[in-house]
Amino acid sequence: MTDKEAVCVGVRLRPFVAYEQGQQQCLTISGNVVHVDPNVAEQSQKAKVSEFAFDCAMDSTDPDAPDYVSQDRCYDLMAKRMVDHVLGGYFSCLFCYGQTGTGKTTTIMGKVEPVSKQGLLLRLMNDLFSEMTALQDEGLEVHCKVQMLEVYNEKVRDLLVPMNGNSKDGKSRHHPEVHVHPKLGVYVKGVADEPVDSFENCVQLIEYGNTMKTVAATAMNAKSSRAHTIFKLMVEKRGGSDNTIVTSEAFFVDLAGRENEKTTKVSGERLVELTFINQSLMWLASCIQALAKPETRKSMVPGAGTGNLMSRFRNSKLTLLLSNALSGNSKTSMIGTLSPALANFEESYSTLTFASTVK
Ligand code: ADP
Ligand code: MG
Repeated sequence: MTDKEAVCVGVRLRPFVAYEQGQQQCLTISGNVVHVDPNVAEQSQKAKVSEFAFDCAMDSTDPDAPDYVSQDRCYDLMAKRMVDHVLGGYFSCLFCYGQTGTGKTTTIMGKVEPVSKQGLLLRLMNDLFSEMTALQDEGLEVHCKVQMLEVYNEKVRDLLVPMNGNSKDGKSRHHPEVHVHPKLGVYVKGVADEPVDSFENCVQLIEYGNTMKTVAATAMNAKSSRAHTIFKLMVEKRGGSDNTIVTSEAFFVDLAGRENEKTTKVSGERLVELTFINQSLMWLASCIQALAKPETRKSMVPGAGTGNLMSRFRNSKLTLLLSNALSGNSKTSMIGTLSPALANFEESYSTLTFASTVK
């Protein structure tokens, strides 16, 4: 995508995993197009389209294939440019969207070790700290703070404080609340803004947040995949010849696993979860669609009073939290994650359709 384009949509096809061994491969990739196997398309009630084109279609099925998309290559294609956005004063956002078990967390987080397994967020932080060090050597002041939040059933939780709500400095941050300020836009009250000054420092916080995510999920008797996880990065740069201050925010969002209400037979609490998830994803899609179109893009102004403009964000906590980054001058990337296996075809097809509609 050229830098002028606001929304970049990619998909990533992961390899077969153990429980899918022996199944037919229903999706393949060539160039920037995903192809549905013709026999599968023919037999499916749902598949009306057999080819989907994206800004970027990443084949990660076979590590030995020449066009295999490794973590490193995925970073170059989808996230590296965010370093410039972050240091250039832009708001930016990267989402992973898809069925549970298709590679969202692998793509965003991956593993810290070995380095080849690091996901997009870790790679971005690594590059960012090198750039920041270079800028500091030139005499600029650069500060970086992070937040890690979770949205479960429309409730926000701060993942960087212990479960009892007491932060390391003793302040209670039990129930973060999302507020809308007429001038400053959206902010979350009662959330830890943790300063970070090195990659290692950042990794520690991310690992802590990931642990809290699991603890929270167990306490709520919920699966961690039922919540949206949001990593927010805030950078402030000051100095230089004109002594300007540049601030930016970047969000990495591991979205809750999307599932079809019809094909997933759930009731009670699970149905409540699923309804919240599907609604928030629908509102998210509506915001990104509005961003992608020049006619509606200008109207995406968070905090610009009340009324129609803000209402698009107000529909869900997720869009409200992200509203700064889903506004007019921001850069958004979305990665739809896919399983190659036939058993997951219906869900994969929905992901492909969703990813196509946000563009
Ligand atoms: P999700 O977060 O969407 O639920 P995960 O990232 O946890 O999915 O991935 C599910 C499984 O698939 C894990 O066992 C993971 O190792 C594997 N996997 C996902 N993406 C890839 C990939 N690009 N390469 C190799 N294995 C992958
Ligand atoms: Mg996950």
